[in-house]
Amino acid sequence: MAERLAGRLVIATHNVGKLREMRELLAPYGLEAVSAGELGLPEPEETGTTFAANAAIKAEAASVATGLPAFADDTGLCIDGLGGEPGIFSARWAKAAGSFAQALDEVHRQLVARGAERPWRAHFVSVLALARPGESTATVERRCDGELVFPPRGTIGFGYDPIFRPDGHERTFGEMASAEKHGIPADGSRALSHRARAFQEFAKRFLA
Ligand code: IMP
Repeated sequence: MAERLAGRLVIATHNVGKLREMRELLAPYGLEAVSAGELGLPEPEETGTTFAANAAIKAEAASVATGLPAFADDTGLCIDGLGGEPGIFSARWAKAAGSFAQALDEVHRQLVARGAERPWRAHFVSVLALARPGESTATVERRCDGELVFPPRGTIGFGYDPIFRPDGHERTFGEMASAEKHGIPADGSRALSHRARAFQEFAKRFLA
């Protein structure tokens, strides 16, 4: 049984949208969460070839720099019709496109150019990593399946949210308030978003 986390925790992210979501997820557990961005820590290069490797790189860099436990996530959108892309390159795609609006257009352009069969299936993957001084890094990976919709819908979320409609729902993540996007049920049944699903398992292992 892993030791329960308590006290200060570094959220190893410089992404404001992710930080907001992680703070909301951690809020009920009474941890004092400070972000890598707020601490002025440098962003490590994500040189891994998997979501888990990149999540571990971010968590370990923040833990080593601060001597505190650090929590990181690596997430991406994997699109069936694009052979799993952008996947671990999701952030880099957006950067190369110039903006998220342009990245969403680029996804659409490539799906059409490659003649991808409809419905355009995709899934978000989220890996959470916990690095603690003197211990090996733990990771949890979960996914959320759905379809891509164009034109993009909604302005509430961030990143690729406006084109992703999770299975069993009519609205995209971009049209959902964060409580609905995460959908963490009080009865312990399955959460909705990739990050919330990974967090549910993480909480069971390290916060219960
Ligand atoms: P990374 O995990 O920081 O490398 O982020 C990967 C990319 O996916 C970034 O461009 C994020 O904006 C995007 N992203 C991460 N999580 C989500 C999400 O929950 N919804 C939509 N886009 C996301």
